[in-house]
Amino acid sequence: MSGKVIVIGGGITGSAVAYDLSLRGMKVVLLERGSIGSGTSGRTHGLLHSGCRYIKDPQVAAECYRENMILRKIAPFLFETNGGLFVAITDEDMEYRERFLNGCEKSGVPVKEIRREEALKLEPNLNENLKAAIVVPDGTFDPLKVILSFLASAKARGAEIRPFNEVVGFVKEGDSVVGVKVWDKISEREYILKADIIVNATGAWGGKVGKLAGITVPVKPAPGVMVSLDERLVDMVINRLNPPSDGDIILSHRSTSVIGTTSWYIDDPDEVE
Ligand SMILES: Cc1cc2nc3c(=O)[nH]c(=O)nc-3n(C[C@H](O)[C@H](O)[C@H](O)COP(=O)(O)OP(=O)(O)OC[C@H]3O[C@@H](n4cnc5c(N)ncnc54)[C@H](O)[C@@H]3O)c2cc1C
Repeated sequence: MSGKVIVIGGGITGSAVAYDLSLRGMKVVLLERGSIGSGTSGRTHGLLHSGCRYIKDPQVAAECYRENMILRKIAPFLFETNGGLFVAITDEDMEYRERFLNGCEKSGVPVKEIRREEALKLEPNLNENLKAAIVVPDGTFDPLKVILSFLASAKARGAEIRPFNEVVGFVKEGDSVVGVKVWDKISEREYILKADIIVNATGAWGGKVGKLAGITVPVKPAPGVMVSLDERLVDMVINRLNPPSDGDIILSHRSTSVIGTTSWYIDDPDEVE
């Protein structure tokens, strides 16, 4: 492959795309309107999902598990692979147990049910009245480390990374987008950059950026709130054995723990209240 690519967005998607395309011999320029990782990626829970949370859709769960395995393989130093536990505390949780195990099997995600005593040995802070515990291949990561690693590797292959460079418009020839108008916030000047391929990797802002090119990108931005505690309470990712809902996961990053997340839909990611 050859040619010039502009990647808009310096989050996890843009940085991974920049890395992948530079590996394939493309000349990549990545444009980010703020600092690297300043969008959603710099504020995630940092959970390397096993796919078990998504078993409602076995295809999504299977893809999630495959991606999990690829990331562990290509960058083992970026992930804490202590695994995860889905834990049942209530009768309602227990009602979900069979559906969960069947869903994991259908999705090809390897899981293992363990005894209560074993679970408490692994995670002494669990509720000692737990009714079931299932080990899953979850992990954790520091999002900024992942993004910066992808970008450093892309840069080593010739990619150019431009933070504080916001795409404010597109250059079109007929129906084709052939370039972008960029506002450089550091030198305070506008410039035009052309490329063979332009990738919109702006996540929650994808709809707004698409609009600049006259394209409809159906995006439903969903922010969330997490609570951080100044103590490492668990080593594994602890999930409630229940269909996904608010505040049902706790995991640790270094010496802190984070409980999350909530989720609701908004129209404009720049107007989160
Ligand atoms: C509360 C919460 C917790 C989450 N926890 C997890 C988790 O534990 N594990 C997990 O896998 N996923 C998690 N997610 C989802 C995950 O964070 C996102 O799927 C992911 O970060 C999206 O990455 P992205 O690169 O697509 O978008 P972003 O990280 O948002 O990157 C897009 C970038 O585009 C930039 N941009 C926007 N407009 C322009 C423009 N005009 N010009 C230039 N740049 C522009 C933005 O500044 C931004 O940096 C969570 C999401 C939320 C909300």
